[in-house]
Amino acid sequence: MLYLFDIDGTLRQALLFPGIGSLAPWDQRVLPGRADRLQALKADGHRIGAATNQGAVAFGLVSESRMQRGLDELNRRLDGTLEWIGVCPHHPRALLPRYRRDCDCRKPRPGLLLQALAYFGAPAAEAVFIGDRRTDQQAAQAAGFQFVFADRFFAA
Ligand SMILES: [Zn+2]
Repeated sequence: MLYLFDIDGTLRQALLFPGIGSLAPWDQRVLPGRADRLQALKADGHRIGAATNQGAVAFGLVSESRMQRGLDELNRRLDGTLEWIGVCPHHPRALLPRYRRDCDCRKPRPGLLLQALAYFGAPAAEAVFIGDRRTDQQAAQAAGFQFVFADRFFAA
């Protein structure tokens, strides 16, 4: 199976402004049980990736390279279990013009999830998306993934 995870609110939480997202590599904590669970999935032979909206980039709150270093740091703390991380840095009302786009990759649209299927060479029937928001669920449905809410997936 392909297990694809949302990031903010699902794998990690920002320390400063959780509603906005992580603004620096140090501005994050991995949520409880995530590293162990991803290791276990990998040990069972599953493929693991992530798909995340990073709208803070579009508003100039964090640079794209700093955001990327934050994701690298997250993956380091998850023992490198994420094989692929898809990012949408766009927003339809972005302050920075180069990120102002009504794109297909911003969830609830399915673009990032479809990119993941292409990267992993997996059919949607063998893919699960795990997230914490209704927009994650909508993206999963639009891409043909199964969907599980994070609090349920990581319970017990
Ligand atoms: Zn996008």
